[in-house]
Amino acid sequence: MNPTAELVYLDYAATTPLDETVLEGMLDLQRIGGDFANASAVHPAGRRSSEHVATAAERLAGLLHTAPRQIVWTSGATESNNLAIQGAARQRAHRGKHLVTMPTEHKAVSDVFRALEAEGFEVTWLPPDGQGWLDPATLKEALRDDTQLVSVMHVNNETGVVQDIARLGSICRERNVLFHVDAAQSVGKLPIDLQQLDIDLLSMTAHKIYGPKGVGALYIADRPDVQIEPLFFGGGQQRRLRPGTLAVPLIAGFGIAAEIAAQCMQTDAEHVAALRDRLWQGIHDIEGIRLNGDLCNSWPGLLNVSIDDIEGESLLLALEPVCVATGSACNSTSQEPSYVLRSMGLSDLEAQSAVRFSLGRPTTREEIDLAVNRYRNAVAALRELAPGKVA
Ligand SMILES: *Cc1c(COP(=O)(O)O)cnc(C)c1O
Repeated sequence: MNPTAELVYLDYAATTPLDETVLEGMLDLQRIGGDFANASAVHPAGRRSSEHVATAAERLAGLLHTAPRQIVWTSGATESNNLAIQGAARQRAHRGKHLVTMPTEHKAVSDVFRALEAEGFEVTWLPPDGQGWLDPATLKEALRDDTQLVSVMHVNNETGVVQDIARLGSICRERNVLFHVDAAQSVGKLPIDLQQLDIDLLSMTAHKIYGPKGVGALYIADRPDVQIEPLFFGGGQQRRLRPGTLAVPLIAGFGIAAEIAAQCMQTDAEHVAALRDRLWQGIHDIEGIRLNGDLCNSWPGLLNVSIDDIEGESLLLALEPVCVATGSACNSTSQEPSYVLRSMGLSDLEAQSAVRFSLGRPTTREEIDLAVNRYRNAVAALRELAPGKVA
């Protein structure tokens, strides 16, 4: 299935189309005759809505091997990150104001830490190695007696690089430091067992796993140490941690998407891995190409490549109708080279030529072959236009 007919969509790390089963499951939860009632209402219609929410929580909790009561619904991973990081930092500020994260985080994490810095918190930014990976020993050295929170993402949205959240989590737990993980790119794609992992807070979003846009969740571990302050005030919903009328259709859709992801995780991973290998096979021999990240230690649906003497924006135009990202989607309005790639040691020029291919459940071999063809032609054409210079 090609989601966008004449376009070749290879930007699944930015967002995914809705799974048809998810869409069907959501339809009757908004209109008259269906279960559209407010899930907080105590009448029978309200109870029916709240049952849909409970089912969704069971499905998402099942995917993550945790209990439904540990899930707080939000509007997406951006809100979950804000709630987790601001909430934990403020709640623990009387104990200490030192926080730890990485420069390769999504803006929905790094901008939160920047705002906290401006408020008087002290943040240590741990650099990745050249492959985008954080050595757990580096984290161990960075922890201090006044450290309260560490936030490291699971799968990087630009490079696909996977961090060792098991090891990082246990280092934090030993020192009684809270550990937050932005798992927007890994939930439903890689196995996550919250019973085994020392993770206190975990952010997720539905629209990266064929669920609806505008809904996410925050997992909060069931430990007395894990207390966070809310961002919003306004009602008693969700134990006052995140008040507001629950978005029942979106939440139900997230639940169904999570259940499908649990069933398809293995086949999805094998599918995109085979296609990513085919893609890399098709372009790896182009002169001056370089892979950003580490194929052996990354989520297999993503390939980030730089190329000498070519500028990413021109490349993107020349690649049409293939839809890929330069840097991260959130940066694509600015011409700034990717800060993620810069902090992995790439020069401005190298980072500026980077293109991110991200594959998904609907991606086909034909699409990959077309992308290979377009990429090779685009590079050749741009080099012809400006030989030896940056096009
Ligand atoms: C997409 C993404 C986000 C933002 O999620 P929204 O649901 O769009 O707010 C945050 N972090 C990472 C790593 C992401 O990939």
